[in-house]
Amino acid sequence: MFNYCPSCGSKKIAFDNSHKWSCPDCGFVYYHNTAAATGCVISTRAGIMLLVRGREPAMGKLDLPGGFVDPGEGAFEGLRRELREEIGWVPPVGGDPDAAFKLFASFPNIYPYRNIVYNTCDLFFTIDAPDLTEADLKLEAAEIAGVKFIKPADVNLDDLAFESTRRAIKAFLLLQ
Ligand SMILES: [Zn+2]
Repeated sequence: MFNYCPSCGSKKIAFDNSHKWSCPDCGFVYYHNTAAATGCVISTRAGIMLLVRGREPAMGKLDLPGGFVDPGEGAFEGLRRELREEIGWVPPVGGDPDAAFKLFASFPNIYPYRNIVYNTCDLFFTIDAPDLTEADLKLEAAEIAGVKFIKPADVNLDDLAFESTRRAIKAFLLLQ
């Protein structure tokens, strides 16, 4: 990622343990830390909702709704924002706005984007929304090429974009 120290310009900058950049000449340190991300299995009568990715990485592959948690957000809040952005739908807010989301699994993922590899810690949630259909959604055109509802046992794991999502779907099947 860095060929030169961004602070002093030294070429001796080194990348240690897959997450720490450090410069021996000026003491500059930058942690390229694991990022938190969310994914959500939304269960409807027609099956679970999978989105067709509209951009790289893994364009055309299937993915769960969700995404990176922004600075200042908790995971629930980040997921709610991603749902609003990606599919234009969020579960109805009752007394506890987070009660609709149930955390059921967490796996690491690797997300390459424009020649930089991001390591993520993905948190996977379930939501029950039996009556939800495609007509209730407003898909984010720049990011999402389509939506599919597939019975959990019929999901072809090879069609999924990311290893963490494959593991999450396998963990979800064990809950059934
Ligand atoms: Zn330096």
